[in-house]
Amino acid sequence: MQLNVKKIVVGALRTNCYIAYDLDSKAAFIVDPGYPDPKILNFIKNINLLPIFIINTHGHFDHIAGDEEVAHFFNIPVLIHLIDLPMLIDPSKNYSAYYGTPFAFSGQWETINGEGTIEKSPFHMTIIETPGHTCGSISILIGNYLFSGDTLFIDTIGRTDLPESCPDKMAESLLKFKNISDDIVVHPGHMGSGKFSEVKARNRHLNFR
Ligand SMILES: [Zn+2]
Ligand SMILES: [Zn+2]
Repeated sequence: MQLNVKKIVVGALRTNCYIAYDLDSKAAFIVDPGYPDPKILNFIKNINLLPIFIINTHGHFDHIAGDEEVAHFFNIPVLIHLIDLPMLIDPSKNYSAYYGTPFAFSGQWETINGEGTIEKSPFHMTIIETPGHTCGSISILIGNYLFSGDTLFIDTIGRTDLPESCPDKMAESLLKFKNISDDIVVHPGHMGSGKFSEVKARNRHLNFR
């Protein structure tokens, strides 16, 4: 397994979509196709990757709006936490109806409910439940990478004042990052990426003492 990660910034909110792929087998998965941007499919097709699933760090529209296109093109499922599933399939829950173009994912989904390892050969991922920004937010640890969605950014954290937030749970969620190794690369849902050592140095919200 030689895991590589390609970041593609998509949509009006400049969401980070990540394509993680194994150079040996060409197997791939997509984290948060946040907008149907042709750059996502083009990258996958250009180097002949074989996507096997999509995973959403949470159900916000700017992280799921490209699920439909990618899932149907490759006939692959979307993995999302059970608590955020309504946002994927109910336009009244993801604000898309409010903005004029109701969106509901019509493909296959698989729910995540609980922490631990998910095996999607050849990938072995560790799911960390990190409620706060949304109540069904997850972070995904795989190889040398942590996909932290809108829970953890390099120098701040996600907002927790939204109707679907769980503000009381954010502090506990951030504590779960305590044992992340310094050299793990954090790939957040927006803005830059960086090593966890850099996040710990710059992010005043992380307090492991
Ligand atoms: Zn969000
Ligand atoms: Zn976001």
